[in-house]
Formats: sequence, structure tokens, C-alpha cells
Amino acid sequence: MTEAIIGLGSNLEHPEEQVRTACRELCGIPGTVPVRISSLYSSVPVGPQDQPDFVNAVALLRTELTPELLLDALQDIENRHRRVRMRHWGPRTLDLDILFFGSTVMDTARLRIPHPEFRNRVFTVIPLLEILPDFRIPPENIPLRDIVGSLPSRDLEALSIIRKNP
Ligand code: AMP
Repeated sequence: MTEAIIGLGSNLEHPEEQVRTACRELCGIPGTVPVRISSLYSSVPVGPQDQPDFVNAVALLRTELTPELLLDALQDIENRHRRVRMRHWGPRTLDLDILFFGSTVMDTARLRIPHPEFRNRVFTVIPLLEILPDFRIPPENIPLRDIVGSLPSRDLEALSIIRKNP
């Protein structure tokens, strides 16, 4: 079993419900067990600002799947949420990303792991710190808590917990 970290986000069509439902749907992925799920956070959009705030969370899973099969399963869930994507970094009903997959490092046409934007985003770093305070970022093995100081302060100030138990 590999420990995988998934990022969840939504800013359309009742985002809080989108993310809460997606958290439950993670239980239905074959060969996969959700271990821990963060609180739900509200965050300001990255990129275009003329769109609603996002609801975000991260989940720790244990899985027997390969990264590609896990991505297939996550994209099935996104499709069930009738994901709408109008533009890059624009609003979406549900976005599921593989942030980490054990200590795997890969860069293929379909998958980049660790997720290249992970470190720049308060809505992935802070929720992960909540569920795994001692997490170390592969492959360099940097303590997660050490990168909090380099996050944009405006984004940190705007981040807030909206629900403790999704
Ligand atoms: P986006 O909607 O912006 O999250 O991009 C979706 C696309 O990113 C998918 O078609 C995936 O093939 C690709 N992708 C690359 N790396 C990852 C990753 N670590 N997790 C999820 N999707 C990824």
C-alpha cells in the first residue's frame, strides 16, 4: 500500500457540498482506504479574481493502485460532478489532484508528482500540515512546516476553516 495525498477543490455549484461528497466518494475507490481528511478551508482564487472563493481540503489515502489508476478513479469522480472548466485556473465544480504518491517522483504527459504547484499554494500546504504536521516533502525530505514562511501572506490571511469534520 502506498500513502497518497489528494487535494480537493471546488468553487461552483455549492462548493462545500461538492467537496464533502467527493470526500465520501474517495471511500469507493477500489483498493483504496481514506485514512485522514482535513477540515474544509475557504481560499481566494489563484489566477483570475473575478470568480467565487474556493473550498479546499486534502485527504490522505492508502492505495494498492498505481498513480495512473488512481488518477483514472479521481477523474471518474470529477466527471460524476459534471466538472465544468471554462478556462485555465478558472472556476470548476470539482478538481482532484494527486499531490504526493509515497516518495514517487514522475513527470509524464499525464502526471507530474509531486504536484508542481503544491508548495506555492496555502490551500494545499496548510490543510496537509493540519493532518500530517510532521510530513516531509519528497524527494528532498524538507519538513512541510519549514515552507509555511514562504507562502504568500495575502493568501495565508485569506485562508480560513469553514468546517472541521467534512
Ligand atoms: P487541472 O484540471 O488543471 O488540475 O489539470 C488536469 C490535468 O492535469 C489532467 O489531465 C492530468 O492528466 C494532469 N495532471 C498532471 N499531474 C497531475 C497530478 N499530480 N494530479 C492530477 N492531475 C495531474
